[in-house]
Amino acid sequence: MSIELKNIVKRFGAFSALGGVDLTIADGELLALLGPSGSGKTTLLRIIAGLDWPDGGSVSFDGENALARGAGERQVGFVFQHYALFRHMTVFENVAFGLRVQPRAVRKDEASIRARVRELLDLVQLDWLADRYPSQLSGGQRQRIALARALATQPRILLLDEPFGALDAKVRKELRRWLRSLHEEIHVTSVFVTHDQEEALEVANRVVVMDKGRIEQIGRPGEVYDSPATAFVHGFIGESIVLPVDVQDGVIRLGGTPLNIAAECGVSGPSKLFVRRHDMQISPPGWGGLEGTVRRVRTFGPIQRADVALSDGQGETIIEIDAPRDRELRDGEVVGLRPRRYRIFADPA
Ligand code: ATP
Repeated sequence: MSIELKNIVKRFGAFSALGGVDLTIADGELLALLGPSGSGKTTLLRIIAGLDWPDGGSVSFDGENALARGAGERQVGFVFQHYALFRHMTVFENVAFGLRVQPRAVRKDEASIRARVRELLDLVQLDWLADRYPSQLSGGQRQRIALARALATQPRILLLDEPFGALDAKVRKELRRWLRSLHEEIHVTSVFVTHDQEEALEVANRVVVMDKGRIEQIGRPGEVYDSPATAFVHGFIGESIVLPVDVQDGVIRLGGTPLNIAAECGVSGPSKLFVRRHDMQISPPGWGGLEGTVRRVRTFGPIQRADVALSDGQGETIIEIDAPRDRELRDGEVVGLRPRRYRIFADPA
């Protein structure tokens, strides 16, 4: 089922939580809503679910007005961060719950319910846990059961709010991969909320980056990573070095020193140069740009991370770079730094 949101506005008192959001989600997509805390992700998800109502704008599912229907009539399944499993019911009964409380007209008979629960437990690869209680499961298993339960009534949309947020890093990683392959199998239109950029980029087909109740960028994971549309997206996705520069007639100056890199069209005046940590390439000093002294080198597997004190003629700025280990950096060494990929955004201030 496709979802179309047009100009969604949501206020809580005087506070504007969503300031005019337009978003179209295609049938069968796995979409991530990514943004920092308070950016409006959950509010948007709750509006799609019918748990909250917008103050303005429209929500359609397959072209039909969804706002005319309540949460119970939208054929939407949810999974929340904190597993909302019923503690007094077995795994089997938890998954069966939604099927048992369906209106009589559509409710299946007991044999069909049991067959459907078995099928779902099989889908989430936990059929061997059917007789356990939630307290006897690991966090990751609980979330998989919560997902099976959300899918029981064959929702046409699946909404997940930080589904792996409460789990430790290793289990999170496993579940990300698992969710992707599960989605490839069932293809239900899915929207999940996360503030973890790696999770969004790894799991989703498309990523919506939000900040302060607005969409900053929508794109495939590679697009938002490689071509961030705004300074916010660059700073939020990946580890960026941000340096204040001044652009005049196409010449970029850092603290008065001209840098031997090209300015982007349309940028002039006080601006910010954004470079990902691993895109700051070591080059011999004197290439005509950034130069600095290596201060502290740490190694992490194939990379070395170093603080470099820039000599930009305006006091000391320390940046952190990631370099491959094919050439070991030494404390005190003077190096040139050339941004391999970079973006320059006009300074909004
Ligand atoms: P998080 O990652 O922390 O969950 P989020 O991006 O999901 O953040 P929302 O929960 O959508 O953000 O909240 C957006 C803004 O709206 C926040 O500033 C929040 O404080 C505010 N907000 C959300 N719900 C309410 C409410 N019921 N009453 C008042 N303010 C609210």
